[in-house]
Amino acid sequence: MMKTRARTSVFWDIKTYPVPRGCDAGLVGWCINRYLKRLGYCGPLSIIAVGLLTDVPDGLLRKLSSTGIVLNHVPLGSIGILRSMDAWKQDHPAPANMMLISSDESILPRIRHSSGYNIRRLFPNYSTKTWKRFLLQDSGEWTGTAKSPAYWLCSLCNNDVCPGFQNFTTHLSSEEHADEAIRIAVETVASTWVLWDINSCPVPPDCDPRRVRPLIKQYLDDFGYSGSFTITATGLLTDVPHDVLRALSSTGVDLRHISFSSGNILNDMYNWTGMNPRPATLLSIVPYLEILSPMYVGNQRKLGCNVIELFPYNSPYSESLWKKFLLEDSGTLEEEDKCSETGEHASWHCSEFHDIIGKGFDTFISHLASPDHKPEEVIKHPRLVVSIRFVIV
Ligand SMILES: [Zn+2]
Ligand SMILES: [Zn+2]
Repeated sequence: MMKTRARTSVFWDIKTYPVPRGCDAGLVGWCINRYLKRLGYCGPLSIIAVGLLTDVPDGLLRKLSSTGIVLNHVPLGSIGILRSMDAWKQDHPAPANMMLISSDESILPRIRHSSGYNIRRLFPNYSTKTWKRFLLQDSGEWTGTAKSPAYWLCSLCNNDVCPGFQNFTTHLSSEEHADEAIRIAVETVASTWVLWDINSCPVPPDCDPRRVRPLIKQYLDDFGYSGSFTITATGLLTDVPHDVLRALSSTGVDLRHISFSSGNILNDMYNWTGMNPRPATLLSIVPYLEILSPMYVGNQRKLGCNVIELFPYNSPYSESLWKKFLLEDSGTLEEEDKCSETGEHASWHCSEFHDIIGKGFDTFISHLASPDHKPEEVIKHPRLVVSIRFVIV
């Protein structure tokens, strides 16, 4: 009973569920409203037209806005819609209802379910016929009364809620919006470095480590990042099972053995952003709030380095969100992409007592067991750190 009195938001993917020919666009809001009322939903309702709205005729958007439909410009197709749904959840605590109207089959399995949110689809399968029938069956009762224009938001720029249809079209043709679009376009072809703290975000026992790289690749693809990317699994690697490291290395994940996680990782981040050409993107899988402070992210952005987070970092939940990313999202991978052994092991870097780099998993293990890794001086005087750089080829 609770759910019927709760707030409901309908996410209408206007690109995959366009208004059918011969249907008045004003019917959409009215039909959805009536449908939900018939199901007993009586709480506040928002209908949000999501998608690349710059591709939708102005006249149609104006009409939708005048019937109370919120306009949400989102780039990046399905991932943009998913992000919009996540952002809505952050602003609207449970209990709440969400309904998706989209024929994009990749969206539903990737919706992050949270307790208290009742998520449903309008139709299990898309068909123009069903959608048209839904809009036309009782259209005789529709009086076509216009409301005041609904609010709008541009997820490309900032997700702030703004009023007035005219302001929406002005925003889409503004310099600020164009600059943001250019910035994102430039960033997406730049190289990306994925920094992964493998001690804080380990591979769960029921996940094949060879899936990590393809999943991250898919994530970057979804965001439109098409440049080259490197993944470095960093941490105290002697605490990570050998078979996990071997599997990761075989798929092209670089290994970086360090002794003190947070300090060294932070240094790595600063070094990398300082040494690489801009623009560049850093995808961080490091669940420390203090590292990913808005100030750090803002400073890096000013320097031309875009920092993105795989999931929101609030320490108590980061491990479960990482598990969810690996276990739930792997279901959406194409079979041939699930494991991506490259036939050649990736590079490794040991900086526990020194800076030694090499290639191949076996040489890494031999190095850890060798006197090169733990020289006698270090065993006798553990505080002594040898600072010599070797290269093993
Ligand atoms: Zn914008
Ligand atoms: Zn070493």
